[in-house]
Amino acid sequence: MSADDGAVGGRETVVSDAVAGGREERLAPGKAAIEAAGAARRRAGLVGGLRRLAAAPGSSQGRRVAGAAGEQPRGDGERCDLCGTSLPDDHRHLLQLEERRIDCSCEPCWAMRSGDTEYRPVGTRTAWLPDFDLSGERWASFAIPIGLTFFMRSSTAKTVVALYPSPAGATESELDLGSWDALVADNPVLRGLEADSEGLVLNRLSEPHQYAIAPIDQCYALVGLVKASWEGISGGSGLERAIAGFFDGLRRRAAP
Ligand SMILES: [Zn+2]
Ligand SMILES: [Zn+2]
Repeated sequence: MSADDGAVGGRETVVSDAVAGGREERLAPGKAAIEAAGAARRRAGLVGGLRRLAAAPGSSQGRRVAGAAGEQPRGDGERCDLCGTSLPDDHRHLLQLEERRIDCSCEPCWAMRSGDTEYRPVGTRTAWLPDFDLSGERWASFAIPIGLTFFMRSSTAKTVVALYPSPAGATESELDLGSWDALVADNPVLRGLEADSEGLVLNRLSEPHQYAIAPIDQCYALVGLVKASWEGISGGSGLERAIAGFFDGLRRRAAP
């Protein structure tokens, strides 16, 4: 039996579905369409893409991830997901591997459980990647509907998955492994990407595009941030500021 039928069964070949699903031409695997587009166009693409996702949150674009970080309240009143004790704002996180869910953890639970096969402690490093190489053509081959996502190697799914924001929370697609391998060949830094505990977070809505390796709870936080800022999608400015602030924070943390 597979690792978890409930979690894995729903994901068919999401990548080809997504292409066949008839999204706008900027996502077609046709050459430099994305690169040629200006920042304004990308911003329009973000809003349009989010609207489309909002209109059809249950479509075949990928598996929605119930209870992913986006649903969690931030700030005051967080509790340890393992024992229920209340937590300070600054606390540790564990990735629950089967469900790929971020659990908040108190120090004693972290010490006791971070070695469990069920859990993985989140990574500790942030690496800003100014020279990252991802052409528009390669990006299109991943068929991710939003240029705001993160990729993670999953040890339980034994593949690489992308998580991206939607109004319903995090949505997950398995990546085409041929495209992933080509991306790793172009960017050897990805060979060091730790399975489960780190992600490659990317923002192709900004100019220049922004890339970083970040702890996996930070990656999920981006998805949650977009959900929390969702009312901004009509005007767009609140969401844009939130996204820019998130990536500025990553860059600062990455500074030596
Ligand atoms: Zn606890
Ligand atoms: Zn937490």
